[in-house]
Amino acid sequence: MTLAPSLSEALSEAGSRAPDLSIVDSLVARLRASLGSDRVSTAEAARRAASTDYAFLSPVLSAALPAARPADVVVYPRSLDELTAAVALARDLEVPIVPRGKGTGNYGQAVPLAAGMVVDLSGMDGVLELGNGWARAEAGATFVVLETAARRVGQEVAMLPTTVGSTIGGFLAGGAGGVGSIEHGLLWNGFVRELEVVTPGGVVRPRGEECLPYLHAYGVTGIIAAATVKLAPARARIGLVASYDSFDAAVAAGQELLALQPPPRLVSVDDPELVALYPPDACLPLGRYSLRAVVDKGFDPGLLAGGRIELVSEEAAAYLSTLAFNHVTLRAKKARADLCHLQVSGGALVNNADAVRSVLPGAMLHLDGLSDGFGGLLLSEFRDTATLYEGVARLRELGVFVVDPHTWLLGGPALANIRATAQANDPKGLLNPGKLPPRSAGQQ
Ligand code: FAD
Repeated sequence: MTLAPSLSEALSEAGSRAPDLSIVDSLVARLRASLGSDRVSTAEAARRAASTDYAFLSPVLSAALPAARPADVVVYPRSLDELTAAVALARDLEVPIVPRGKGTGNYGQAVPLAAGMVVDLSGMDGVLELGNGWARAEAGATFVVLETAARRVGQEVAMLPTTVGSTIGGFLAGGAGGVGSIEHGLLWNGFVRELEVVTPGGVVRPRGEECLPYLHAYGVTGIIAAATVKLAPARARIGLVASYDSFDAAVAAGQELLALQPPPRLVSVDDPELVALYPPDACLPLGRYSLRAVVDKGFDPGLLAGGRIELVSEEAAAYLSTLAFNHVTLRAKKARADLCHLQVSGGALVNNADAVRSVLPGAMLHLDGLSDGFGGLLLSEFRDTATLYEGVARLRELGVFVVDPHTWLLGGPALANIRATAQANDPKGLLNPGKLPPRSAGQQ
């Protein structure tokens, strides 16, 4: 497969920064002396496991990412002091450093492109403090742990990814939004109050807007050691599934749900062709458009007029989140390996859905409610990169906003801020090399 020039350039530039093995040996000896042998692994299985993520969901990335040289060493800090010590040792020897949570990112963003040291944060998993409307947790705390702690005090995590086993640090550095985003927006919308970040130059503690260059930055600006994030009062909810004989009817009902007060936790819509790829379930009848939602208890099912109610259950919320956001890609690709996905949003998804579907072969729409309407996924048959990017160009002509999930390069409006902060915090570019786009690629 031919790579986009910016990916090839980033790959070869990062590859040229892989450390000599004699330097690696020296780092490993220093790490063992400083942190203890149980915090350091050079076992091939550990190095390989720490060098992958869910980039295999993209046919472009799985063909492009290097398999040859994984991380040289994996460290497993258990405290801020251990994390700071490991980063300082790698900095002194100029060894690349890649932070890692649970490796569920989709863009290859946790894959070390220059080998070096992977820092597995999953052992720093404590919930440190709970307040009214916020929680402070170590970066490796999973959403299961965080949500359980919040529930004990009558609260819930305001917004979380469908990968509930992933870490808060990985979500802040690699994710965007998910369950709860209808009410609470995305990462950038006041979800993060304060961070504790380890950089090659030391520890920084950004607050409020100062946290922005650390969000969805793949760790290039620093390693999040702890985060204070938004909680909301916990509410009792029910899961609903309905089916419709037309897309417009399913979307109209979905829009009624999005306008509810208090807002739903989740609203999803699928084309019947996608429903057919999910594990069989009586509440997902074949040949019909599916609408699924998690709403506050006391909801009036009369609002689902025009459809057939398939399920109303207090137990269904967790299941319905595994049929939303990128879980849809995972499930669809399990059934049909030839598919690829694009992340899409904008009014055209609902107002001009047939034109949207027509841009790529066999395209199918999945919608998820967000604070400003529906976003979602366009899944289509993957022919080749050229066909895919012709489709992306046509989508943009239709007014669709496309986030390209087939690149590990950072982009978007925050890029200039991320680049400037990376330059200040990590002038030698040791943090996750290869993820900032080369300047020659015409980027900010
Ligand atoms: P990792 O994959 O380990 O890391 C992600 C990125 O952050 C990497 O670049 C890594 O280097 C960096 N990083 C990790 N930890 C730190 C740290 N402590 N400090 C600095 N940088 C760090 N995402 C969403 O936003 N919403 C969803 O609903 C969603 N659903 C998904 C469903 C499926 C099936 C899959 C496969 C992915 C989904 N994702 C979703 C993407 C991903 O699961 C989430 O963003 C997740 O929260 C990432 O956490 P992680 O611990 O796995 O991070």
